[in-house]
Amino acid sequence: MADAEEPMAVDGGHSDISCEWDGRWNHVKKFLERPGPFTHPDFEPSVEALSGFRLIHVVDMDTIDVSNLNRQFLFRPKDVGRPKADVAAEFINNRVPGCEVVPHFKKIQDYDESFYRQFHIIVCGLDSVIARRWMNGMLISLLSYEDGVLDPSSIIPLIDGGTEGFKGNARVILPGMTACIDCTLELYPPQINFPMCTIASMPRLPEHCIEYARVLQWPKEKPFGETSLDGDNPQHIQWVFAQAQERAAEFKITGVTYRLTQGVVKSHSRHVIDAFFFLHSAYIPLNNYMVFNDVDGLYTYTFEAERKDNCSACSQVPQDLQFPSSAKLQEVLEYLTENSSLQMKSPAITTTLEGKNKTLYLQSVKSIEERTRPNLCKTLKELGLSDGQELAVADVTTPQTVLFKLNFTA
Ligand SMILES: [Zn+2]
Repeated sequence: MADAEEPMAVDGGHSDISCEWDGRWNHVKKFLERPGPFTHPDFEPSVEALSGFRLIHVVDMDTIDVSNLNRQFLFRPKDVGRPKADVAAEFINNRVPGCEVVPHFKKIQDYDESFYRQFHIIVCGLDSVIARRWMNGMLISLLSYEDGVLDPSSIIPLIDGGTEGFKGNARVILPGMTACIDCTLELYPPQINFPMCTIASMPRLPEHCIEYARVLQWPKEKPFGETSLDGDNPQHIQWVFAQAQERAAEFKITGVTYRLTQGVVKSHSRHVIDAFFFLHSAYIPLNNYMVFNDVDGLYTYTFEAERKDNCSACSQVPQDLQFPSSAKLQEVLEYLTENSSLQMKSPAITTTLEGKNKTLYLQSVKSIEERTRPNLCKTLKELGLSDGQELAVADVTTPQTVLFKLNFTA
């Protein structure tokens, strides 16, 4: 595709940019005006089925790097350094008459419920589990319940997709109805880091050799100056690959390949996401989790992730914390961060004591952290907490505080 300065004529070369012209929707009509083996049982083919998304907001906090250019179709070399959201919006607005894309060069966390409530559907291609969980929590916070029954009109579907190295997944989440991100948190294992001593002196696996080149040699030898290692830059990968091969030969280890090198380097780089999905009521939505893997051959598979009865994000079931009264606050903090279904990052714990709000521990503000740090070494009893006490926990993984109930064990 040429680098078009002028809006490209879609469909047969009409030069005026009116919003409708003969044949504009021919391709879409094939999906919407006739039935097929995958159409929804309730779907009636008709011209009305063509609703189209004409207003799209895009939120992204990144700017375009030269290494982004090889795996997308919206950015050009002249756009390097500019916000991705702005450039993507300009490109589509120029190319697709009648479609309005509104860019937001921001973090998703910069907006609140009133912003997210306006959408019919949200598509996420985020590069971190924390951001995914935050958006998941945001959509759950928009649900309304009447006598414990979910009001379906308050549901905003979330389509989430991501890639890491050679693996990808796509899932459809109906908040409050199907498994949410936190229901399946155990599927996101903490990143594997090999022990440094193994990497440095006792490599056994090809990955150890690649890690040696990535972690130790790259920062020491600075083959490309101060540039940080970029998993999408073939020259960078080639350098790491060559170093890893040398290392492997020295220790008689086999299996270091270019592909494996790229996979290992990419699994550690932060910009990993390109997701692209299409959802229309004409088709039965993905139910509800698809995985894709081409690390070695090609493998893809779809399964139904199940809701977790006591999910801390979507279940509305009070979360229990079982501790003896002699446990220290530090142990509670460790539980919140290390438990595989919670995986909080820097939880702030507050409670109500004698009718007053009390911060037991908060990490994100230095002065408060220093003031509350001594509490970590105190037992729950010493802190004045009692059996059945409610603890409110705030964390970057959710826009809402999570309520826990403290249950003293013996
Ligand atoms: Zn859930």
